[in-house]
Amino acid sequence: MTPPYADPETGAAVKAADRAHVFHSWSAQAVIDPLAVAGAEGSYFWDYDGKRYLDFSSGLVYTNIGYQHPKVVAAIQEQAGKLATFAPAFAIEARSEAARLIAERTPGDLNKIFFTNGGAEAVENAIRMARLHTGRHKALSAYRSYHGGTSTAINLTGDPRRWPSDQAAAGVVHFWAPFLYRSPFYSETEEQESERALAHLEATIAFEGPATIAAIILETVPGTAGIMTPPPGYLKGVREICDRHGIVLVLDEVMAGFGRTGKWFAAEHFDVVPDLLTFAKGVNSGYVPLGGLAISEEIAATFATRPYPGGLTYSGHPLACAAAVATIHVMEEEGVVDNAARVGEDIIGPALRAIADRHPSVGEVRGLGMFWALDLVKNKETREPLVPYNAAGADNAPMAEFGAACKRAGLWPFINMNRTHVVPACNVSEAEAKEGLAILDEALSVADAHTV
Ligand code: PLP
Repeated sequence: MTPPYADPETGAAVKAADRAHVFHSWSAQAVIDPLAVAGAEGSYFWDYDGKRYLDFSSGLVYTNIGYQHPKVVAAIQEQAGKLATFAPAFAIEARSEAARLIAERTPGDLNKIFFTNGGAEAVENAIRMARLHTGRHKALSAYRSYHGGTSTAINLTGDPRRWPSDQAAAGVVHFWAPFLYRSPFYSETEEQESERALAHLEATIAFEGPATIAAIILETVPGTAGIMTPPPGYLKGVREICDRHGIVLVLDEVMAGFGRTGKWFAAEHFDVVPDLLTFAKGVNSGYVPLGGLAISEEIAATFATRPYPGGLTYSGHPLACAAAVATIHVMEEEGVVDNAARVGEDIIGPALRAIADRHPSVGEVRGLGMFWALDLVKNKETREPLVPYNAAGADNAPMAEFGAACKRAGLWPFINMNRTHVVPACNVSEAEAKEGLAILDEALSVADAHTV
């Protein structure tokens, strides 16, 4: 039998053990109802009832080459047979090669790679490195951002997931980054938004004390917070401000990197080279946990004779690095980055704009490559979000109903607050993209019913 096929008995056992023993992230344990997943391939996964879903969320926006790519699975198997694990202090073929391939693709002189097990640890180490390099302690980050679930990373985060953990925020200061559709600066054009956001950042730095600020961290294109592509000139302006004040610029490309925006790294769109660049997710499509930090020559030189005080037992794990090497080769051989750019520009962007014209609930379409958001609203004129910021329970019903409609029709959406993101695998085919867009189109009538 070839999957997907129904096996409800196994599904029930999987679900029962999960409910009895698995403690899930970001959740009230008694009210969640996790779907038991039997398998996955390419852009699809399926449950134990044999129901298939087209994954428009790429897991948590990380399966950039889809599920179960045979070449990456084979590379992990081969590495497991050769050398399944080895401590980080040694030079290991898979680790050396992964570092070389990543450094060759990161912009500018980011030539040294510090490996972690995921994005949050990459952010933790970026801020630690910036603090040690500059001898300063503060870190500035944006509202409407996500940087990870560990101590420093969650404090840098600019969304409600930070609120319960804010007590360790020593030295973290938040500022507003540009977002024209919901402009914190009352701007009417992208030029105004860029200019005013830069002036606001300058003022924040002046009042915090430039000589106290080690780092500014920004998602190159903010992801979970809403896919807000920065207006022309903004990131270049931030780069100039950092240079003028001796502040380390950290670009967080955990979500935006490795093809997601139609380039290897989103920084390429803006012709900006950070001092530190964090990555994870797409580096190996999450087949084995891996993240890291690409480091400039200047910062690497700080630690040439002075030890870097940080490390992780599984830093540069051979299985994860072998998966990264295979993933990068697959992305090159199969033109995955170009596919993300092309399908994004030719299929997804135009289709979403047509959808926005048809549906009163779609306030704005934003994005590029395989990285799109629909901002859902109660009313296009007022731009009032379809559900309030951080809504839960009954207040969130319109988004919950919309999500349920997508799932019933076989589409797994990415939903955050009043937005649905369109973030399929970067190697999604045109036919798959169209299939998902058609379901989205239909399901949005559920959101339309809540407009006024
Ligand atoms: N930074 C960004 C921009 C992210 O989107 C995420 C995760 O979604 C993280 C950091 C944290 O990565 P991880 O969950 O691998 O720790």
